[in-house]
Amino acid sequence: KNGVVIIGAGHGGVQAAASLREEGYDGRIVLIGDEAELPYHKPPLSKTFIKDPAAQPQILRAEAFFAGASIELALGERVASLDPAAGRVTLASGTDLPFDKAVLATGSRPRTLTFEGGPLGGVLSLRSIADARLIRDLAAQVEDVVVLGGGFIGLEIAATLAAGGRNVTVVEAQDRLLARAVAPAISAHVAQRLSEAGVRILLQTMVGQLEGENGHVSAVVTSTGERVAARMLIVGIGVTPSTELAEAAGITIANGIRVDQQMRSSAPDVLAIGDCASYRHWLTGEDVRLESVQNATDQARLAARTITGHADAYSAVPWFWSDIGDMKLQMVGLTARSDSQVVSGEPADNRFSVFHFRGGRLAGIESVNRPADHMLGRKMMGAGFSPDAKSVAEGADALKAAFA
Ligand code: FAD
Repeated sequence: KNGVVIIGAGHGGVQAAASLREEGYDGRIVLIGDEAELPYHKPPLSKTFIKDPAAQPQILRAEAFFAGASIELALGERVASLDPAAGRVTLASGTDLPFDKAVLATGSRPRTLTFEGGPLGGVLSLRSIADARLIRDLAAQVEDVVVLGGGFIGLEIAATLAAGGRNVTVVEAQDRLLARAVAPAISAHVAQRLSEAGVRILLQTMVGQLEGENGHVSAVVTSTGERVAARMLIVGIGVTPSTELAEAAGITIANGIRVDQQMRSSAPDVLAIGDCASYRHWLTGEDVRLESVQNATDQARLAARTITGHADAYSAVPWFWSDIGDMKLQMVGLTARSDSQVVSGEPADNRFSVFHFRGGRLAGIESVNRPADHMLGRKMMGAGFSPDAKSVAEGADALKAAFA
């Protein structure tokens, strides 16, 4: 038996290895990751790590866990190619590893742009602990920061650096923040509070050109012609799934490595999970590729079930969180195609939720500092329960009573 090779030692890969042992898998498990250090939590990087010189990475599992579970770690090793028919991966260092099953958990990487006036130092994006260290070191030396992209990671970074006393401008091409992810009411609220926290927000604006001094960025010129001082430009305009290994191996790609309800790719012995995988979602029937810790870890658990001979279909409720300054945003469900919304609570109190409905059924909830709504939403959606708009509008007690 050649065992399981897991490619990518992030949130999904580590959970897949752990879950295989929990499911009783007793073959060889090799977890390969191209980052040299022990696998760590990504969410704190943009929320706390970059403003705290003393912060250490928060590891996902201690070294003793991997040793105790007989999970072989190959860290600092990049997989260069995958041969599904032969059941073999080849590392960039030249070593071949045979497998019975391979799990692709390669994640995604930040989309980049080439700017007129570039390339220049000080233009960074955030995905890894190595990126976070670069941002932290530079942030400690500079005053003016521009964040390109008003998505979750960009706004988390903007809030974190503004709280650390930096002069931060967010440049967003759409007419509102978080446009792809949340309801307009949440976008407006986040924009208002970030502005109050001293973050300048430029909507319907792009970065046109960079100016530099001695090879380092000194300013950006926006599409509206304004010159904004910037000793650091953080590019947070989304990610691309890391699919190149699968693609080169002839595996089907459709906005990510295409997988079925058991996380199997088009190659029978190769599974894919997390940010790199796309699939038809049980909740909406739509094809999605989700980027969240929940998605990566729940798919990892399911992949381990598939490998150990079970046939359950993916049915986890999708959820996500983001901390932007003093706002804890929590999202449950899939709300992109909702057709009506009901607001519960008061934006003025910095505590409210937007309930999304589609065809009269609950599609998801977006909460700001209302964790109880989020947790109830997860329970309701897991149970297939949909409240009526009236009990939502009446408030938390009516909602709980309706669900009980
Ligand atoms: P990853 O965790 O990215 O792991 C993939 C690993 O594979 C990486 O280490 C990569 O280097 C490695 N790899 C890729 N190719 C190869 C190869 N060929 N050989 C070897 N190794 C390879 N999600 C939330 O739900 N809530 C949050 O608040 C949140 N905040 C975030 C903040 C930041 C700054 C970032 C970057 C992400 C955040 N996310 C958050 C998203 C979440 O971290 C990802 O969805 C999650 O990490 C996906 O897990 P994954 O296993 O698919 O990929």
